[in-house]
Amino acid sequence: MIAMTNLVEIRNCRQAYHKDSNADLVVLDNVDLTLAEGEIVGLLGRSGSGKSTLLRIVAGLLTPTSGDVRWRGAPMTGPAPGVAMVFQSFALFPWLTVEENVELGLEALGIGRAERADRAEAAIDLIGLGGFESAFPKELSGGMRQRVGLARALVVQPELLLMDEPFSALDVLTAETLRTDLIDLWMEKKLPIKSILMVTHNIEEAVLMCDRILVFASNPGRVASEIKVPFAHPRNRHDAAFRQMVDDIYALMTRRAPTPPPAIASPAAAAGFATRLHPVNTNLLAGLMETLVAAPYGGRADLPALADDLQMELDELFPLGEVLHLLQFAVLEEGDIRLLDAARAFVDADTDTRKTMFAAALRTQVPLIAAIRRTLDERWNHRAPALRFRDELEDHMSPDYAEETLDAVIGWGRYAELFSYDDESGQFSLDDIEVGQ
Ligand code: ADP
Ligand code: MG
Repeated sequence: MIAMTNLVEIRNCRQAYHKDSNADLVVLDNVDLTLAEGEIVGLLGRSGSGKSTLLRIVAGLLTPTSGDVRWRGAPMTGPAPGVAMVFQSFALFPWLTVEENVELGLEALGIGRAERADRAEAAIDLIGLGGFESAFPKELSGGMRQRVGLARALVVQPELLLMDEPFSALDVLTAETLRTDLIDLWMEKKLPIKSILMVTHNIEEAVLMCDRILVFASNPGRVASEIKVPFAHPRNRHDAAFRQMVDDIYALMTRRAPTPPPAIASPAAAAGFATRLHPVNTNLLAGLMETLVAAPYGGRADLPALADDLQMELDELFPLGEVLHLLQFAVLEEGDIRLLDAARAFVDADTDTRKTMFAAALRTQVPLIAAIRRTLDERWNHRAPALRFRDELEDHMSPDYAEETLDAVIGWGRYAELFSYDDESGQFSLDDIEVGQ
């Protein structure tokens, strides 16, 4: 019998951020993860579902609030020596050559000059950058830079390779080449690594590369399902079974449990402030509704088919669908998007009526927008600094998400003519706004 060795074992992991005067923000709740030698595991989920956080916990860079984290059976106490990480952006030093960038990780390990050079060259060759040793990052394409990032991770001969959306900053073709090259190296056992854990929001990428996929759900981040991918490499995206699995995962990720908001103590949260909003463009929202009303859709579409037709990625289409869902112009269900009557009325309306409809939807469905408008109505000078709302948002989400949420609110409010916003002073106001009701 072959004993399977587990590299990583995580049990009952919870990560929460404490917020003064508010309920804690729970980023990961009750997460279990086991990584065995010989497997590629994918973490798939929407933005904000805690994937990067879990990756940092696996790397030993972050100690979770609670839970048991083990590396080769022993409690993890800090950065694990057998782990290397590749990030989405190519964190290369511009003033160092390719070879010097790759050698960096070895210097930290105290390895001598000659051996460093040998190992760096081997890693550079392996990853297909032979001949570019003395090039500088600015002379390389995005794909080649990401190869340097990979070489830098591999040169330390890690047992576990962690990748956080490693291909998402690359164009489609480059990303595909790099994925295939990596899988080829893995299959030919040319890599020192024993296991790969990768984060992605791209379903096809997960099905193409992984042996096992953990699908995350948000609020709090948790593992909603686990899917085994039984196909042998090299995989074919056009295989019926491959397509079916992609479709099934789409359906799984868009399935809505009736969502009672999590029990939250603070009044601001209860009013819906805690919701993170994606700053999607109102023209795109209108365009999507127009497309869906027309043939061949007739008000309803299968999301994967729609993404294909519109040549969009999951991560672009989802937020649009979500906003339409939030504003009750559409419903997302079981992998489909279905328009509601309000959307048909919107599509038939003229520009001014569209703005009025959008404004009404925003005021009823987005508490933050209602609050901003109420504040402006009540103040004698009809002004309020955005800072005030940002602070409140940051009690419920990271500063980045607060910024995004404010961006969304500013864009939508401007379009709907609910308020003005001055970028320079950072002030909301009712300047140039027709104040009717
Ligand atoms: P993903 O990688 O799935 O997009 P992340 O792990 O980056 O998700 O983030 C999950 C959640 O944790 C987000 O809501 C984010 O705002 C929050 N978060 C991450 N880091 C911090 C932090 N230092 N303080 C507060 N919230 C944080
Ligand atoms: Mg992330």
